Amino acid sequence: MLSKLFGEKCTICKHKCKKPSKYMDDIGNEMKVCVKCVSYAERRAYRKIH
Ligand SMILES: [Zn+2]
Repeated sequence: MLSKLFGEKCTICKHKCKKPSKYMDDIGNEMKVCVKCVSYAERRAYRKIH
């Protein structure tokens, strides 16, 4: 997909972001989280994937 070249979509806000952090939700789904949504992910106790 061409869109991959232009950044990935944040799982939470659905906006494109250049460098999303990866988190795993409580059922093991990998999520891409933009800088704006990191605090939201932290609050939901999603685990950060390094
Ligand atoms: Zn976001």
